[in-house]
Amino acid sequence: MAKSSSFLLFLLLLSLVVAPSIAADPDMLQDICVADLSSGTKLNGFACKANVTEDDFFFKGLAMPGATNNTLGSLVTGANVEKIPGLNTLGVSMSRIDYAPGGLNPPHTHPRATEIVFVLEGSLDVGFITGANKLVMKTITKGEVFVFPRGLVHFQKNNGYGPAAVIAAFNSQLPGTQSIAVTLFGSTPPVPNVVLTKAFQIGTKEVEKIKSRLAPKKT
Ligand code: MN
Repeated sequence: MAKSSSFLLFLLLLSLVVAPSIAADPDMLQDICVADLSSGTKLNGFACKANVTEDDFFFKGLAMPGATNNTLGSLVTGANVEKIPGLNTLGVSMSRIDYAPGGLNPPHTHPRATEIVFVLEGSLDVGFITGANKLVMKTITKGEVFVFPRGLVHFQKNNGYGPAAVIAAFNSQLPGTQSIAVTLFGSTPPVPNVVLTKAFQIGTKEVEKIKSRLAPKKT
C-alpha cells in the first residue's frame, strides 16, 4: 500500500474511534426515556418514568415574550429536559430569549452544547470569542441565524429601539449555562478576592464593588 493511502486509512480509523466521543449528549438506547424528575436515582441524565403522556413531550412556555424588566434587560426561557421530561436522552433542547431595547444576554458559555439562534424579531449584535481570543461578531435581524460553537463564550445585545427575541436550539437536553460575571463574582461561597484581584489586575475595592452587585439575592 502506498504511504499516502495508509495515512488516509489511519485517519479513517482514527475518526471511527474518536467520532463517538465527540458527540454532545450520549446516544439513546431506547425509543423514549421520559425523565422522572422527582426520582432519587442519580445517573447521567434522569431515570425513566413508567407512565408517559403526551404532555411529557409538550411545552407552551415559549409562546409568549418573557419579562425583560430586569437589570440586564433580557430573559432566557428554557425549554430543556427540566421543562419537557420527554427530552431525556434525546440530545436536543431549545430556549427563547427576549431583549428590551438595549438589553443584553451577558457573556456566558454552555459546557454541553453548541447553540444556534433564529431571530424572531428585532436586531441584535451577537458574537463569540475563540480559544485564540478572536472575536467573531455580527449584526443579525429577523429571520437570520447565527451559531455559537460549544463551550465558547458568547453574548447577544439588542441594538434596536424596539424589543427583540430569538429562538435558540441546542444539541443537548440540558446545555448548562455559566454566566462569566456571575460565575466569578457571585458564587457561593465567594471566589477569594486575591484570585480576582490578580486575575483582573484590579484592587480589592473594585472586586468588592462588583461582588456586591452580583451577589446572590438574599431571600
Ligand atoms: Mn447561549
